[in-house]
Amino acid sequence: MDFEAYCVKCREKRDVKGGEVKDTPNGRKMAQGKCPVCGTTVTRFLAAEGAGEKGKKK
Ligand SMILES: [Zn+2]
Repeated sequence: MDFEAYCVKCREKRDVKGGEVKDTPNGRKMAQGKCPVCGTTVTRFLAAEGAGEKGKKK
């Protein structure tokens, strides 16, 4: 997926293309990809959506 993430190396927001969405152990989702400028891995937490997780705990 494509997403916008803050690159700590460039200190700017970058448009990341082809990132992967991953589940974190605590039930959140994050997008992970690479900065198109410097190649640093950037991650961004995503708002929980479409999972129907409201009030549901594991
Ligand atoms: Zn960068």
